[in-house]
Amino acid sequence: MNKKTSEELAVFGGRSIFEEYKSTSNLLKPDVEKFLNYSKAFYAQKHYTNNGPNVRLLEARLASFHNAKHCVSFSSGFWALALVIKVLAKPGKTEIILPSLTYRRMTDIIAWLGLTPHFCEVDKNTLAMCPSSVKSCVNENTAVILGVHPIVNCCDVESLESIASECEIPLVFDSVESVYENIEAGKIGTFGEAECFSLHACKLFNGFGGGYLTTNNIELAKQLSSMRTFGFVGPDNIEYSHGLNAKLNEMHACMALASLDDIDTQVADNKARYYQYRKGLAKFRGFSLLEFDEVFDSGFKNIVARISDEWPFTRDETVLILNAERVLARAHYDPPLHTKLNDSEYIACDLSLTESLATQFINLPCGQKVSCDDIDQIIDLLSFIEKHADQIKQLMPRITERD
Ligand SMILES: *Cc1c(COP(=O)(O)O)cnc(C)c1O
Repeated sequence: MNKKTSEELAVFGGRSIFEEYKSTSNLLKPDVEKFLNYSKAFYAQKHYTNNGPNVRLLEARLASFHNAKHCVSFSSGFWALALVIKVLAKPGKTEIILPSLTYRRMTDIIAWLGLTPHFCEVDKNTLAMCPSSVKSCVNENTAVILGVHPIVNCCDVESLESIASECEIPLVFDSVESVYENIEAGKIGTFGEAECFSLHACKLFNGFGGGYLTTNNIELAKQLSSMRTFGFVGPDNIEYSHGLNAKLNEMHACMALASLDDIDTQVADNKARYYQYRKGLAKFRGFSLLEFDEVFDSGFKNIVARISDEWPFTRDETVLILNAERVLARAHYDPPLHTKLNDSEYIACDLSLTESLATQFINLPCGQKVSCDDIDQIIDLLSFIEKHADQIKQLMPRITERD
């Protein structure tokens, strides 16, 4: 720690503890030779996009990784979700059920689909969507249920599946944050009608960008592989409407394949980081780690902590102090999605729990650019601000005035 007094905190103009920003992005850097080796295949064949050799290999490997029958790749997780929901939503129905405490851009996807979000409540301990709340949101306008996994552990897949089958509503999973997990019933990637994943560089599998979905439904897989390339089913033969250009190209597939090759090492590193945080954070009051359920496989990627009243600062004050030190901690899924929409643009059950949880959680730096030493420094910084809390709080108005 380069600080002796509170004034030396970067938030008050002192030098930050890190030179390089420490973010919450995964940024996996697989072996470059592996990436180049995969690339040689498409280069030699001059097949750069449109179902090239690496895209086909990647789809086969991802299907087997998830124990699913089929995998269809896309240019992003966004378009995987948008296209599969477009196909599966019940005709003539208007509402999609999902949590409000979730991925910030989810309402953009829903806007492209012309559906109305119907927000359900989450569980106060797991932050996952609450099945009984999902059930209470189902009505005669429900087109689809979007099961979204929280960023630590999984949502209650089995309960969601039974609600969906009982109510005869299609169920699609956004499994971006649970790509490496399994649950008692099996591997993530085999549930609902389809499960969607992302290959964005900040996620566990880095394809520079891209996405994919897994499904056991061959008809669905065929239709979506056609829709991602304008709806073509043969030369000049377009069968599906709402096709668009959402293919994954070969470069991205090569990077994703190289990531997949390195995934187990990467997860072991993530686990070491997670344990380092767990050890360090254990001494604090009011700053507690959301723990991974280690009974099943887990990617250990995200570090989420709950900040309660016993901690001397609010979550937002803590984020402000950390960010100034180049510790790019983030408010966890705050603001919740419904608060960014007009009242006429959504339907919701009582979301008071969501609103209160949104102020309590913080995402801490993780991923390949954060070492265990960095984590020790972050813990030291937290100890420092805890110890000097009274003085820091007296100095805080200075920054609010400056803003
Ligand atoms: C990142 C993310 C997406 C979107 O994936 P992109 O590949 O970036 O379009 C969807 N859902 C969740 C939960 C995400 O975190």
